Amino acid sequence: MKRELTCIACPLGCSLTVTLDGKTIVSVEGNTCPRGKEYAINECTAPVRTVTTTMRCDDGGLVSVKTSKPIPKEKMFDAMEVINSAVAKLPVSVGDIIIPDLFGSSVIATQERK
Ligand code: SF4
Repeated sequence: MKRELTCIACPLGCSLTVTLDGKTIVSVEGNTCPRGKEYAINECTAPVRTVTTTMRCDDGGLVSVKTSKPIPKEKMFDAMEVINSAVAKLPVSVGDIIIPDLFGSSVIATQERK
């Protein structure tokens, strides 16, 4: 089986073709550098994503947040439920940890709010 991917490890966006035998990766083609191969292997075996969103604050407004590191892709909806049910206590500075433990990551503010 072949899988077509676009590498997101840099802005060049190389088109990758991954050949799989079941769950085993046979080859990766189209990558311009080793990061593309690493991305393709991770994407086919254990895909991860950084969650970038907004979160409610205790004044009723919103603050921009993201996960401090990528989390398993299959946990994204669960992560959004946790983030959507939480409330950030103001004031908040960029980099403040709002939710300390979320699927091996944490949720941090990417915006200052007073
Ligand atoms: S394969 Fe390398 S050069 Fe191509 S998009 Fe990925 S990181 Fe960039």
